[in-house]
Amino acid sequence: LRRAGIPLADITELLRERSPERLAAWVHRLRADAVRRQEALAVARKLLTSTESGTAGTQAGHSGREAMVRWHVAGRTETGHVRQDNEDAIVAREDLLVVADGMGGRPGGAVAAALAAELVGATFAGGSPDELTAAVRAANWVVWQRGSSTADLAGMGTTVCAVGVAGDGTLAIANVGDCRAYLIRQESLERLTQDHTVVAELVRDGRLTAAEAAGHPHRHVLTRALGVAPDLRIDTFRSAVAPGDRVLVCSDGAYIDVAEEEFTSSVLGSPSPQALVDSVVDLALAHGGRDNVSVVAAETRA
Ligand code: MN
Repeated sequence: LRRAGIPLADITELLRERSPERLAAWVHRLRADAVRRQEALAVARKLLTSTESGTAGTQAGHSGREAMVRWHVAGRTETGHVRQDNEDAIVAREDLLVVADGMGGRPGGAVAAALAAELVGATFAGGSPDELTAAVRAANWVVWQRGSSTADLAGMGTTVCAVGVAGDGTLAIANVGDCRAYLIRQESLERLTQDHTVVAELVRDGRLTAAEAAGHPHRHVLTRALGVAPDLRIDTFRSAVAPGDRVLVCSDGAYIDVAEEEFTSSVLGSPSPQALVDSVVDLALAHGGRDNVSVVAAETRA
């Protein structure tokens, strides 16, 4: 038992009780630890060796985590009908949703988004809501370091919207940029994030109407992005989740050319997270698909 790395105090307990369940719990914990360490090392290796963008992709069914609230998740990211590359990255995991939308041209945009999504995924283990904000802050530092030390990645950055569920059931949101998070509860859709764009800030200040903003030529211009400076202002938000609640996170490509009523009815009319993701992605593609489109969604298990 000592050689298995079990602390003396626990060995004493184990010998006193001689319980197979207790030993099985240790076996489980050691396996989960090993998986977590291997994942962390894989990220470290990637950071040290790669200048290519890895696609963060969907990582459903993440092992080694024991959050009390579990989600059914779905995610999809599409290049769209106009762009050459997909510079969005997503994570759709049982305790975490992330959408990142890269900027800075080839290859920086895709690298920044993939790095940010992967790093937040590797750092957030469901410990607490603060852990999510810390994960975004750490990702900012790494992307900024990489961008300022690699010539062809100079100036890269990314938006990021991360929604995690902590072990105590608290929903935590960390947002920078113009991806959006929504909460769907009992047939109502509530937006949880503000866009960090010049146009959205003018609307919040009352200097532009929502109608003027909708067709504004500069509505993509960001006021904040991850990876462009060593420190970062992150919007955070917390909420308690209830059984049946759904969460949706999307990149600007999913909403920017879609009328609000149409967006809302496509979200509320979907019977499952996968149907929700498909309906929002397909709607954006039907409205031209001018930008990359990414949507991830989760439903709390009752
Ligand atoms: Mn976009």
